[in-house]
Amino acid sequence: MVTKRALVCGAGGFIGSHLVKRLKKDGYWVRGADLKRPEFSPSPADEFLLLDLRMPEACAEAVRTGGAPVDEVFQLAADMGGMGFIHSAECEIMRNSALVNIHMIDQAASAGVKRYFFSSSACVYRDMAAGEEPLSEEDAYPALPDNEYGWEKLYAERMAMAYGRKYGLAVRLARFQNCYGPEGTWRGGREKAPAALCRKIAEASGGGTIEVWGDGTAMRAYTFVEDMVDGIVRLMASDLENGVNIGRPEYVSVDELIAIIADIAGKEIHLNHIAGPVGVKARNFTNDRIRSTGWTSRFSLRDGLAVTYPWIEAQVKAGR
Ligand code: NAD
Repeated sequence: MVTKRALVCGAGGFIGSHLVKRLKKDGYWVRGADLKRPEFSPSPADEFLLLDLRMPEACAEAVRTGGAPVDEVFQLAADMGGMGFIHSAECEIMRNSALVNIHMIDQAASAGVKRYFFSSSACVYRDMAAGEEPLSEEDAYPALPDNEYGWEKLYAERMAMAYGRKYGLAVRLARFQNCYGPEGTWRGGREKAPAALCRKIAEASGGGTIEVWGDGTAMRAYTFVEDMVDGIVRLMASDLENGVNIGRPEYVSVDELIAIIADIAGKEIHLNHIAGPVGVKARNFTNDRIRSTGWTSRFSLRDGLAVTYPWIEAQVKAGR
């Protein structure tokens, strides 16, 4: 059997590092590329290139091995963070992520890569009201993303599709909902809500109070990283064109999310709701397309947090 050769861009990041582990288990030869190596455990990638993928020559180097193109590119590199980062670094996101996406698809197509995965986001959709009927993938148009991060993702999706049409490249576009799990960023300003809340609860004493951005009513779904990676692998192997939502359809408010984490931590926690960047009011998406690949979410929110909270608590205790 011929071993498939994959390039994972963003292999030093949260989802990319988990994807490398999965592809290695599946028998791939894997090259990781990123500005940095994974922070929390060594990468099992066969090769790891430290590259700034905003540069066309770096993308050209990443997509070729011994003069031939890799078989598959998984593009997960992005200048990325939670809502605090998304609202404070609009220019950096629009510039840096767009440059990576422009040059990576261009170099992959000209090298002759046959399959290309792009990690888009549920942020491509408009804001929703609580209780609204689910949006399907085509409801991304007419477009009205809530933030610049979403507009950049939409542009990058369209560019990848245009290259797919022109160069006969099979492009697969996943729109991730919030992803969480061990070995994700948990402090420093780029962490997302589940990690930030786990950290705050790990730092609080029982009966203590934590600050929470917004009024706690924003509705979201959260997907455990193993489920997300399984969705990526299934989507890449499928014949599904255009955007595909990947997310566990278990919607909770921010306050409900906190209650689950506090219960796992075994702590009574009081909440001080303060003004802060919250993002959209509600989310609700169909996931029929990804389910058609045989994908299903295996980790309930509680099961995923039962693995994630102890990992973050251990980081906090170790003072890392
Ligand atoms: P992450 O920040 O942990 O990983 C992104 C990686 O890209 C980082 O390791 C970073 O160093 C790398 N990178 C950034 N600029 C680069 C450059 N110029 N050259 C090389 N590498 C560069 O983020 P993540 O949570 O793993 O997200 C992966 C992808 O999934 C991103 O495209 C993100 O937008 C998308 N996404 C994530 C979520 C989520 O909840 N985590 C939700 C929707 C979409």
